[in-house]
Amino acid sequence: LDSQITATLADAFSNISAIITYASGREESLRFKKVSDAYGDILLKSWLVSIAFIGVFSICIFALEFAVFYFGIRLWAAGTMTVGTFVLIQIYIIQLSQSLWGLGELIRKAFESFSESMEVVEILEAEHGVRDVPGARPLVVTDGTVEYREVTFAYNETREVLSGVSLTIRGGQKVAMIGPSGAGKSTFVRLLMRTYDATDGQVFVDGQDIVSVAQDSLRRSIAFVPQDPSLFHRSLMENIRYGRADASDDEVIAAATSAHCHEFIKDLPQGYDTLVGERGVKLSGGERQRVAIARAILKNAPILILDEATSSLDSQSEALIQDALDVLMRDKTVIVIAHRLSTIRKMDRILVIDGGAVREDGTHDKLLKNPNSLYKALWDLQAGGFLKNTEAEK
Ligand code: ATP
Repeated sequence: LDSQITATLADAFSNISAIITYASGREESLRFKKVSDAYGDILLKSWLVSIAFIGVFSICIFALEFAVFYFGIRLWAAGTMTVGTFVLIQIYIIQLSQSLWGLGELIRKAFESFSESMEVVEILEAEHGVRDVPGARPLVVTDGTVEYREVTFAYNETREVLSGVSLTIRGGQKVAMIGPSGAGKSTFVRLLMRTYDATDGQVFVDGQDIVSVAQDSLRRSIAFVPQDPSLFHRSLMENIRYGRADASDDEVIAAATSAHCHEFIKDLPQGYDTLVGERGVKLSGGERQRVAIARAILKNAPILILDEATSSLDSQSEALIQDALDVLMRDKTVIVIAHRLSTIRKMDRILVIDGGAVREDGTHDKLLKNPNSLYKALWDLQAGGFLKNTEAEK
């Protein structure tokens, strides 16, 4: 329950803007009260047990004292015990009660520590979903070819998210993935990064089954720019250097310049030493994306996965990001979960994912030529948004 209180608080604090905008402070307080009341009840019970223990203990000591006094006075009256012996017995009793008191405290603390350590052990013993096989060798990337062979994946038993997907992305090819929300685009790239292992089938990078190579080497070969990058509450310099720990200041600044971060960083009062706030809250969404791109430029991994932000940016930010992406994508195998026409247009190949399978696969022109293609339908559906982006591009 102690950890439930922390979890409830953490959940509320990390969603503080939703709580404010939905004016749900009262409901959240009630939710917290429920958890803390339950904790309070248990605490009260444990205190009552302690008090009962103290009570029984005090009664025992009182009875012992009474007996000692009773027999002590009788023996003293009979002349068989001196005052010195009586005082000595008293000292023993005091020492005994102190030791017993300490023992009681010790037992209580031992139980407390035991229940706390149980929680930690549960976490430590939790099975890792993805493990290295014994003797896993490092991945050797030559040209960055990615192959999915009959890949099936399900998060749970009731529904397959990907069903028997097979495709090859040649080294250096730039692929855009599009499809309805929930179609499995993120899942597709998660399997390549081994966030999860495929339920069935295999994923290869340059002919090596990624399940048989060391995870660290796989992740070192892949740069991932997430949709809404979260930054560390550290300086901008440290955040960008996260892409490559041994990069010099000059290299960090060069990457920041290519990613169009330098423009906004140089105007900050503390420049690259500016702390970005927890998760990077002190930066705008577009700025955070550019920092994440700078990180990926610095990492310079042969395979790039980009989960493009869905939120629309103003045309200037959009142009800056597109420009930064051009630098980032150069000479790499690229998989983009794409939402913008400007990005899709740059790609060599488009995959339309729907219902757990790759429904369409081809270039923009080829897919658009087919009047019945899902791509054309999605294209027409979003034409308004696409056109806006095209105008921004011009
Ligand atoms: P979007 O464009 O909205 O991000 P997507 O195509 O990337 O969608 P995925 O995130 O791959 O879709 O999700 C595919 C399906 O898997 C969805 O139905 C989703 O609810 C489910 N799903 C995703 N992540 C998990 C998870 N960690 N546990 C269980 N189910 C999940």
